[in-house]
Amino acid sequence: MTPNRVGIAAIGITARGVVQGVGFRPFVHRLAARCGLAGWVENTPGSVVIHVEGDAAALSRFRAMFRSEIPAAARVTRLSVRKAAPTGVPGFTIRASRRDGIAFSTIPPDIAACPECLRELADPADRRHRYPFTNCTNCGPRFTIVASLPYDRERTSMAGFPMCAACRKEYGDPLDRRFHAEPNACPACGPRLSVRGGDGAPVETDDPIGVATRAILGGSIVAVRGLGGFQLAADATNDDAVRALRVRKRREEKPFAVMFRDVASVRAAARIEAADEAILRSPRAPVLLAPARTRSPLAPSVSAGLPTAGVFLPYTPLHRMLLDRTDRPLVMTSGNVTDEPIAIGNDEAMSRLRGIADLFLLHDREVVQRSDDSVVRRVGRGIYPIRRARGFVPAPVVLPRSFPDVVGLGGELKNTFCFVKGYAAYPSQHIGDLEQAPARDFYEEAYRFFRRFLDARPRAACHDLHPAYFTTAFADRAGADRLFALQHHKAHIFSALADTGFDGKAVGVAFDGTGYGEDGAIWGGEFFAIDGMDVRRAGRLAYFPLPGGDAAVREPWRTALSLLRETLGAAEAERAARELFPGVPPDSIRLVLDALEKKINVAPTSSAGRLFDAVAAICGLCARSSYEGQAPMRLEGAAARAAAGTYPFTLAEEDGQLAVDWSGLVRGTVADARGRLPAGTISRRFHDSLAAAVVAAASRLAESAGARHVVLSGGVFQNVTLLSRVLSGLRKRKLSPLIHRQVPANDGGISLGQAYYAAAQVAGG
Ligand SMILES: [Zn+2]
Ligand SMILES: [Zn+2]
Ligand SMILES: [Zn+2]
Repeated sequence: MTPNRVGIAAIGITARGVVQGVGFRPFVHRLAARCGLAGWVENTPGSVVIHVEGDAAALSRFRAMFRSEIPAAARVTRLSVRKAAPTGVPGFTIRASRRDGIAFSTIPPDIAACPECLRELADPADRRHRYPFTNCTNCGPRFTIVASLPYDRERTSMAGFPMCAACRKEYGDPLDRRFHAEPNACPACGPRLSVRGGDGAPVETDDPIGVATRAILGGSIVAVRGLGGFQLAADATNDDAVRALRVRKRREEKPFAVMFRDVASVRAAARIEAADEAILRSPRAPVLLAPARTRSPLAPSVSAGLPTAGVFLPYTPLHRMLLDRTDRPLVMTSGNVTDEPIAIGNDEAMSRLRGIADLFLLHDREVVQRSDDSVVRRVGRGIYPIRRARGFVPAPVVLPRSFPDVVGLGGELKNTFCFVKGYAAYPSQHIGDLEQAPARDFYEEAYRFFRRFLDARPRAACHDLHPAYFTTAFADRAGADRLFALQHHKAHIFSALADTGFDGKAVGVAFDGTGYGEDGAIWGGEFFAIDGMDVRRAGRLAYFPLPGGDAAVREPWRTALSLLRETLGAAEAERAARELFPGVPPDSIRLVLDALEKKINVAPTSSAGRLFDAVAAICGLCARSSYEGQAPMRLEGAAARAAAGTYPFTLAEEDGQLAVDWSGLVRGTVADARGRLPAGTISRRFHDSLAAAVVAAASRLAESAGARHVVLSGGVFQNVTLLSRVLSGLRKRKLSPLIHRQVPANDGGISLGQAYYAAAQVAGG
């Protein structure tokens, strides 16, 4: 329909954010056709520009539908609409985009299979029936297949699969759902599955998924080449299979993520609400940590004693087919030995996962960007990231203003790095713990990729204060003009500021594991006074002596013993410890007490994470810890639902800073534990008391600074039991809490904070 030339008007729309490679232009084209409007749509670097003209009623219809029907995988961060002059163009066209100079932001994150593709997958009449690499402009692999820019097929791992005539026709048709879908493929021209045995020998079959299904149902562990790398799949209802996976992967107790066929089967294993369902079904399809049901089809060894389940839905057609055919929940965990990066290549997997996997389900589309599954919790109605990778990366965090190129190099554990360029901060995918060489190699490889493709010329690089971090040493090789060192917990606070976009006066709370402090102590329970980009330490948990480095992390009773000694004195502490830690040899207790007495290998700390470790040990929940964060997770998991009273705390003034004195909390937990109160009651009292202490300290600092906002960051705030009490406590006092929504509160978010700080330093001269 050609618009009436009399009385026509025109508008121009610019949409910024994740708007390319997500079916945005075909969507605009279809909408314009439905409204009978003329004009055009085109991609420009970092945005989509739309011009539509026609009668006023059609234009307002277009605007209303535009807002409500934006493709699910798109994330519009800025939308501007302005009046334009009608040009008299006949009809609507998708204009060829200038392919040169397209910004990095045009690579979208990977997108979970869309409903239309899943319908085709299940339709015997469709040419993509049961084709595990089905995708379209609304869904499919993106970031994980990109080797170089601009983002088009020749520069992805689809380059080796020339399109057949039918696929080419779809690709070239602006009205087709596969118009310019770079990974477009079908059984005639696209990637294929194959199977190898545990020894790497080829298995001849015309039904690879059938072979994998039978193996899984028979209790075997199958390595599946997924989107961002290999996953290890096992029957989540078979305790023997899950136990075998733990032994082979050398993962004693950390919970496994479980993939479910659909939301109904998730509900059988976890308590989820409508908002959780929306997260599970979203195009990012993350692993959601949700409360587990006590009576669940999952084998006990899946969560190993934690009342939380990591649940997610199939996000590729391959996963969909595996789940349909096994018809039961599957453990779907990263294909690696614990603490190593996820395997991506076929040969790499067959050598690194030999002895772990009984069977390999392979395909011939290379994974270019290593990317683990993302993990989130839900707080309020929104997501609260725990691990940010597949489905999120490389979407940027949009900053409040434009900055010169800089980079934040991240921390040592749960590492990411982050480049800032203009208005955008680009956190890398989760790299992992940088204590081992393979993870460091992954870091350097990913760093080079981001730097090259952002065309970043960092004016500054920012690293942690800790002299022994890998990233601190790497700073010299970062290719930056200037170097900044930023204290760990300040980086957490800057991260939350960038994440929330808050600018003004606030109180910052960083409750965390441990970080190198500016005074030589080990920080980790910190309060800050924030004024714009000025962040000063204003308070902390009272210091206590932290015994012996790594041993204290693995054996939380050591930290507990130090707190016992601080509150009860050495003699009584020894008696209490023998009572509370019956599995620990009395000689070991005496040894640690001696070291504390003589201050051997002991440093003062204000770490909130270590306080949680100690209380978990005192409650008898975790004398030894097999993975980072286990003790606090157990303590949170044990917390009783009903309120049970609190322990006392006091706020004191020390060296001009507010100090939260926790000795009343420790005395209370020890008395209750010696009185044989259930761990659930003690845990609940401890959580409620510590939350009250945080709220009281933050309120006092807010009052003296004239601030109304409180920014919360640090790994301890992954504990949503603590977090939700702090949130409600702050709101009761008419304070507005600000929490992470885009990057994790844990060390995965530090690089964003470092980059934001360095950017402001450079911009400020
Ligand atoms: Zn699709
Ligand atoms: Zn084809
Ligand atoms: Zn931290």
